[in-house]
Amino acid sequence: MSRTLAIIKPDAVAYGYTGKIIAHLQSEGFRVLGLRMTRLTAEQAGEFYAVHRERPFYGELVEFMTSGPVVPIALERNDAVSTLRGVIGSTDPAEAAEGTIRKLYAESKGRNAIHASDSDENAANEIAFFFASSELV
Ligand code: UDP
Ligand code: MG
Repeated sequence: MSRTLAIIKPDAVAYGYTGKIIAHLQSEGFRVLGLRMTRLTAEQAGEFYAVHRERPFYGELVEFMTSGPVVPIALERNDAVSTLRGVIGSTDPAEAAEGTIRKLYAESKGRNAIHASDSDENAANEIAFFFASSELV
């Protein structure tokens, strides 16, 4: 078993897709270890996406991620990181495979419904960003 972090982004929360996305994740064999709803400050969003600090879309990304509540979810499954990347689909929903969460629920490359960790190391750091270990069940 391994772990990964998903975040349902402000667009999907605002459109009321939270429940459908959680059900989709569970139907793909993920167990929910931790779940909360929060609204990020610009400082928190900037830190979470610090790896993208030099990219042209960084300011817009921070603005989007702070525009409304988000739902971080710590997940467990075998091969959690790469399985979740497959389940969410490509960054740009126009390129995402049929049936993926981004194909189903995202509207653009920026407003793309869901985040997923991209390595085991980042997953551990990202889970710790949102959850104390005592909050994971
Ligand atoms: N993003 C964007 N424009 C781009 C690339 C990325 O707005 O050209 C945003 C988008 O919300 C994406 C996030 O920045 O999900 C992080 O980018 P990354 O390349 O890590 O994509 P992901 O891992 O989310 O698929
Ligand atoms: Mg990424």
